[in-house]
Amino acid sequence: MYEYEQEDYFEIDENFEFNTGINKLLDEEVEKRLAERVKNYQEAIDRDKKSQKTISDLRSDMHKLQLNLGAAEKTFKKEGADDTLRELLGGFKLGDEVWFVRRRYNRVQCDTCLGDGKVIAEFKGEEMKVQCPKCNGYGHNSDITKSVEKGIIKEIEMHTWANGKKFEVKMYIDPTTYKPGDTVSARTGEFFKTEEECEATLKEE
Ligand SMILES: [Zn+2]
Repeated sequence: MYEYEQEDYFEIDENFEFNTGINKLLDEEVEKRLAERVKNYQEAIDRDKKSQKTISDLRSDMHKLQLNLGAAEKTFKKEGADDTLRELLGGFKLGDEVWFVRRRYNRVQCDTCLGDGKVIAEFKGEEMKVQCPKCNGYGHNSDITKSVEKGIIKEIEMHTWANGKKFEVKMYIDPTTYKPGDTVSARTGEFFKTEEECEATLKEE
């Protein structure tokens, strides 16, 4: 019994070499496949990284494009707003030179009543003083002298009326072609870019 067991214990498997070889092959195959998987996995990770990089680059490009677009929009809006404002202001801005019609009102003594404001009239054979019909009793008449002058825009006032959709501009001008007394104001249609335009308007009046 003992001997048998001993014998059995020390018996060498006749398939041992074969099994070892198979196992070695299996191990190698497993390793190979594992290596392949690892390689695939690594490649997948690399691909993913590349994709992420591409996505990140695209995002960055997109962001830049959005910034450019934003800047372009801003510029466009600003230029548009500037153009619109210039258009509304008749092409003018503060500090520009502008032509305008200067009006001077002079008191001229009435040549009918000679400044008295009253004239002698005969009514039913009686002489009496009545109000001078030419100066309405003021004794003087107004004489307007108009001239074409130039100045610098120092203030611009804008008025809009919602109902009438009206837009009016009032310019405050410091005269440069004569010694300025006061700042002159001119409304839309009363200030011009050139002397010629201004003179043309004066002739129409
Ligand atoms: Zn008079």
